[in-house]
Amino acid sequence: MAAPSPAPVLLWFERDLRLADNPALTAAIAGGRPVLPVFVLDDETPGAWRPGGASRWWLHHSLAALAGALGRLGLPLVLRRGNAEAVIPALAAEAGAAAVTWTRRYEPWNRARDARIKETLTAAGVTATSHNGTLLHEPWTVKTGDGRPYQVFTPYWRAIRGRAGPDRPLPAPPSATAPASVPHGLELAALDLLPTRPDWAGGLRQAWQPGEDGARQRLAAFVRRGLKGYGAGRDRPDRAGTSMLSPHLHFGEISPGTAWTAVDGAGAADPALAADAEAYLRELGWREFSYQLLFHHDDLADAALRPEYGAFPWRDDPAGLAAWQRGRTGYPIVDAGMRQLWQTGWMHNRVRMVAASFLIKDLLLPWQAGERWFWDTLVDADLANNAASWQWVAGCGADAAPFFRIFNPVLQGQKFDPDGSYVRRFVPELARLPDRWVHQPWAAPSAVLADAGVRLGQDYPRPIVDHAAARPRALAALATLKETA
Ligand code: FAD
Repeated sequence: MAAPSPAPVLLWFERDLRLADNPALTAAIAGGRPVLPVFVLDDETPGAWRPGGASRWWLHHSLAALAGALGRLGLPLVLRRGNAEAVIPALAAEAGAAAVTWTRRYEPWNRARDARIKETLTAAGVTATSHNGTLLHEPWTVKTGDGRPYQVFTPYWRAIRGRAGPDRPLPAPPSATAPASVPHGLELAALDLLPTRPDWAGGLRQAWQPGEDGARQRLAAFVRRGLKGYGAGRDRPDRAGTSMLSPHLHFGEISPGTAWTAVDGAGAADPALAADAEAYLRELGWREFSYQLLFHHDDLADAALRPEYGAFPWRDDPAGLAAWQRGRTGYPIVDAGMRQLWQTGWMHNRVRMVAASFLIKDLLLPWQAGERWFWDTLVDADLANNAASWQWVAGCGADAAPFFRIFNPVLQGQKFDPDGSYVRRFVPELARLPDRWVHQPWAAPSAVLADAGVRLGQDYPRPIVDHAAARPRALAALATLKETA
């Protein structure tokens, strides 16, 4: 008689869609048991924060890549959809699993869900363990001298920078054992993640390669070509000066420790790169800071951290919101950013700040409206980073830019896209305008506009708001908060 096959470990993937430097995967294999990888599309995520269209597109392709990589290890990826709180314990029972293991998540509802799942599994005699595979530092381990969470980035950064760097990244496992019998799973297509009518994902397909291989290639290319000059170049949307790792980090296709180790190593090996490397590590620090804000503020994505901003006199302007979303505000740098977002699912950080400031301060529309649009359209839409960044621009977050610092979209364009090549790329109707006018077409003489083939109000909109007037209006709105405080 054949010996009964040992009970497997259920390896529950969610936002750690990689094999390398994945402590949950390494631990599952190290136990010597067969490993059953599973992904559950959790329908119980609160409605507003279900993955948006661009995230769903990415997830589809990332799961395909993960299934391929696991397949090469001899492991099947079981796909399910439903309420993970019911699906995971049921699947563990069905597979006769001895243990379930996963990478920790930080969205408040997921933390609560995972704690309940741990209880259910433990009560059923199944060992449940979770691992850190998403952050450099668990949020509860970084505290001020008096034991409170940091509210200001610089001391937070000093605290984590002073710690030992991440351990050397774990290699992808060379082999693993699949269980003798595998519970049924859904086909990837049955998760309904891809857009169909219309298929708007052409620009995303051109711009990205979701999955661990794409992530690794991006990091390698960045260290080789992008890191030099990153410190100053990271503010230039007209150059490919940043790593574009954000969606890969969001979906856990690469660990922050891997990015940190590669960049830190490059800086240590070449003194000419040291300052640029430090600037990059600091951005990873902002990611950590955002996660620790989310960890300590469950409603970070919905409510201003500074409660007085709850009474801010926002305008109601659906036409203004639609113009902003479609990149038709009449301010070229804002429109280029919003169109880059629509076409590629990503927007340069400097332009995110300018476009967000325009929505909040020039249009006086609530930051949450912009946050939701980004959530639906960004391939890197990330609850912690998105919410913390919107609150930062709106002046209502932790260590935020003060509200009264209002970006002038013309000056921002001229400073960070000096010859207008970024605008020309995403707003092609302005491509033939001379540099001098490309960030302010309404100010160009009519002969110049005619020469460039631009009919304002027809080919390209006139400004939907006059920035010079919007600025005092925003400051007056801010003043009402002080009166009511
Ligand atoms: P790089 O400059 O190469 O930085 C490396 C990594 O550091 C990034 O991949 C990212 O993980 C992290 N990082 C960089 N800047 C920040 C930051 N300001 N805050 C937190 N982490 C950062 N980032 C997201 O990942 N998801 C979002 O949903 C998101 N929404 C944003 C909304 C607004 C209004 C603004 C102003 C910023 C937002 N950001 C968001 C932060 C930042 O714009 C992106 O992380 C960055 O542009 C990604 O490009 P990159 O990978 O080339 O960045």
